[in-house]
Amino acid sequence: MPELPEVETIRRSLETKILGCIIRKVAVLNRKTIKTPPPDLFAARLEGEEITGFQRRGKYLIMEIGCSMVLVVHLRMTGRLIVKDSGFPINRYTRLIFYLNEGKELHFQDIRKFGTMHLLDRQDLDAFTPFKALGYDALDPRLTPDLFKERLKGRKGQVKGLLLNQSFIAGIGNIYANEILWRAGINPQRRADSLDAREQQRLYQAIGEVIAAAISHRGTTLRDYVDGDGNQGEFQNMLQVHGKGGRPCPSCGNSIVRIKQGGRSSYYCPSCQK
Ligand SMILES: [Zn+2]
Repeated sequence: MPELPEVETIRRSLETKILGCIIRKVAVLNRKTIKTPPPDLFAARLEGEEITGFQRRGKYLIMEIGCSMVLVVHLRMTGRLIVKDSGFPINRYTRLIFYLNEGKELHFQDIRKFGTMHLLDRQDLDAFTPFKALGYDALDPRLTPDLFKERLKGRKGQVKGLLLNQSFIAGIGNIYANEILWRAGINPQRRADSLDAREQQRLYQAIGEVIAAAISHRGTTLRDYVDGDGNQGEFQNMLQVHGKGGRPCPSCGNSIVRIKQGGRSSYYCPSCQK
């Protein structure tokens, strides 16, 4: 599933390619992708409007439309937003097409069909239910080390689950949680409120470093993810522990262990991560 670095990479590529474009026509090929308003109204409202900006909150991509609307996109498992020249063929996974001016099209492809789009009035964005529950974005400069430490207090659950909890910190999924904990030298099964001050600091720092490195490598492609140009990411080549059960830890050479936590695979080095 695309996590913060992948969505941020898509955001940046769309901003470069289609900021200022006009949506001339919308073809809805899978009505269930559109959560609100009803698909016909969705298309009618967008047609003739300009794409005026791109934002991201956690794993959500937000397209600003004209001066009064926002299109909130969640890619879920397999969603892709790809800019193509006009006439690009539809395939069996194309769920929606925005026909733009300047000879461009924005295609939404989604194999599993879990991706969602909500077209909202801009003034309703903060009240959008999923955003009300969203914690600080992992890249939010307001999330200082002190605030981060404060927010760890009283968190009795395992630290791995806490990193995945979007109301604690938004944007981190399984891949980056595994990488962050390895970099911080923290066992994923540790109780979050058991971390001492140095471990808290290391965790805070590892979040920033891993996310920044992943963005600079344009995200991680393990299966379906591509950026707004249709290109794969490159951070899969930089992964230290994720997906590497039984292989040597890059730091100490001992075997990386795979366990299940909350139904997800955790990979860690028992020697380096205490
Ligand atoms: Zn190790």
